Amino acid sequence: DRSLVGFIGLGAMGSPMATNLVRNSRRVLLYDKDVDKAQKLAKHLNMEVAQSVHEITTRAKFVITMLPESTHVEQVYLDKHDGLLEAAQSGSLFIDCSTIDVSTSRNVAKFASELGRQINFLDAPVSGGVPGAEKGTLTFMVGGTEDGFRRAENILRCMGKNIVHCGPAGNGQVAKMANNLALAISMAGVCEAMNLGAKQGMDPRILAKVMNTSTARCWSSDTYNPVPGVMENVPASRDYENGFRTELLLKDIGLAMRAANDLNIKLLVGEHVASLYENMRKQGYAKKDFSGLYRYLYQGPSV
Ligand code: NAD
Repeated sequence: DRSLVGFIGLGAMGSPMATNLVRNSRRVLLYDKDVDKAQKLAKHLNMEVAQSVHEITTRAKFVITMLPESTHVEQVYLDKHDGLLEAAQSGSLFIDCSTIDVSTSRNVAKFASELGRQINFLDAPVSGGVPGAEKGTLTFMVGGTEDGFRRAENILRCMGKNIVHCGPAGNGQVAKMANNLALAISMAGVCEAMNLGAKQGMDPRILAKVMNTSTARCWSSDTYNPVPGVMENVPASRDYENGFRTELLLKDIGLAMRAANDLNIKLLVGEHVASLYENMRKQGYAKKDFSGLYRYLYQGPSV
């Protein structure tokens, strides 16, 4: 299929995702509010840069967005002058891969369907981190109509391995929220345990090997190990740069805590872990990958 795919938000995740679309013979039209970033990637991929969100929506019938937070998604989709939906062509399909709150996703989907031009909006947050985005092995958790899901599947398969329809609009975000709550907790567990081992003089590479063939094995230990020197190509091996920023993980735990609050349930472990990442963020780790929790613990946190 040679139809143009618009891609908005070319950050740590969006940039390798757009690259995989091109590797799979898609033509992409790129946009990021950081013009330099968009131009660099476009040059690298030999693709075009759009001058505005408006240009994306008037030229591309398939649009993917990968933005930091709900406010950015609202702005990019709903802005009256330079938003995606107002000027969208009939039959357009929008796929938002950002992790945002369920109600924003549902509102944007409702707005899109009420335009009455067969415009479809899906929430499709991802899991797999920057390495998964680079390798094209992401999991997509999709919320929206059956029809939209069927149309999206082929495009998403260029960037991911597991494409799961989670139910109606917003349900992709529900799945993602649960996943990331568990991730925040598992990473904290691995960091604490690796720190305990390392402080007793054990080689962290051997400890990781043991854990990865034992009952503590999980993604945080065997794919994204937080200890420098244990694995290549993970944030721990590049000073915790270009990964999943701690401030973004805190956004996700915040989404889970607000949802739990609305349901009158308590996230006992989640709340504890949230305060750990929050303290770490305040110590200069906001932009660092969340696995930097290992270094924060190793150096002795001020809590
Ligand atoms: P990022 O900050 O690296 O990238 C976001 C990009 O969006 C930036 O290039 C920024 O300039 C651009 N942007 C912001 N506002 C814009 C606007 N109004 N118009 C156009 N461009 C705009 O973030 P990221 O790490 O790529 O994460 C993106 C989303 O994916 C977040 O919701 C995050 O929670 C989620 N996510 C991240 C990871 C990860 O490992 N980094 C993994 C899974 C999910």
